[in-house]
Amino acid sequence: MVSKIGLIERTTIATLGSHSALQILKGAKDEGFNTLLISEKNRHSLYKRFSFIDEILTISRYSELLDNRCKQRLDDTNSIIIPHGTMIAYFTHQDIEHVSVPIFGNRKIFQWESDRNLKQRLMSASLLTTPKLVEHKNDIDKLCIVKLHGAAGGRGYFLAWNKESFEENATLLLNQGRIRSEDDLFIQEYVIGVPTYLQFFYSPLNRQIEFLGADIRYESDIDSIGRIPARQQLSVSLQPSYNVIGNLPLVLRESLLEGVYEMGERFVKAAENLVPPGMIGPFCLEGVYDKEGIFTTFEFSARIVAGTNLYINGSPYSELIYDKPMSMGRRIAHEIRIAKEKGLLNQLFT
Ligand code: ADP
Repeated sequence: MVSKIGLIERTTIATLGSHSALQILKGAKDEGFNTLLISEKNRHSLYKRFSFIDEILTISRYSELLDNRCKQRLDDTNSIIIPHGTMIAYFTHQDIEHVSVPIFGNRKIFQWESDRNLKQRLMSASLLTTPKLVEHKNDIDKLCIVKLHGAAGGRGYFLAWNKESFEENATLLLNQGRIRSEDDLFIQEYVIGVPTYLQFFYSPLNRQIEFLGADIRYESDIDSIGRIPARQQLSVSLQPSYNVIGNLPLVLRESLLEGVYEMGERFVKAAENLVPPGMIGPFCLEGVYDKEGIFTTFEFSARIVAGTNLYINGSPYSELIYDKPMSMGRRIAHEIRIAKEKGLLNQLFT
């Protein structure tokens, strides 16, 4: 499969119409690739506004990506699929492992992203500080955040400070049919500080890590609660949620940068040991900086994150490395182009 891409002249970069598709395809076009978007019907009118998208393959639902019609078109156009958050959320890791079209990155690592236990193992092996896990609701004795399994984009998360507040919110989720039992929830110590998303790219070609940006998520409605005075907050019964609406840019204190690179490098090394061949391309360490400047990592994403959409024109960090605007999407396409020129495409796929 990979040797076939190596032989052909024209390569197409393809992705699903969602998440960071615009950035990915703009970057691909800037690096000289053909671009193909696989889009649900209802988003067609949005995506057809952008001239850097050469072709839109319309589907009724995301699952059709696995059908023969899509596969045939992806084959005919010598496409490489760039995975993003929507792909990880809608497809099982078994689905992704069996897609016969080349997918950029290490397919096996997506399972480690979606499985809580594997995720924790990789973060521990990377020697990252992680929030304390609370095994049982009876053990909650400080502020905790309670999460649903899988990449829920913060939906349904709630805060609990004792057994009663846990049960009150868990019952709501049970009644809404969002969980089947309390076992579908896991409890983590709430870390107070600045929630920060650190965006990296690891190049298997030059075996180097690049730190390309940082962002803060803006979430509804937790981020709007501070706009309501305390008296009114107490008078209405609020159930804050963590649903991401957008992202805000963040530039870190320069004194934090050395630590950022060290965490990224440890993560890459641990991934190489635990999930060979390891990290390929974009990833994100997601956590909280506390008042001492210590970073506690609560999550990672082993693929492009939507916070990179901030930097389509490059970030303050990409500007230090590249003389041209280098978004994460473009960085992916750049890696594919260099690998193609050097005959090393097999290093970018599994
Ligand atoms: P998802 O993986 O579903 O997108 P995250 O795990 O990234 O969700 O968390 C969503 C939001 O919850 C984060 O932006 C952050 O504000 C908050 N959060 C998550 N874990 C913690 C934690 N341990 N301490 C403090 N805030 C947290």
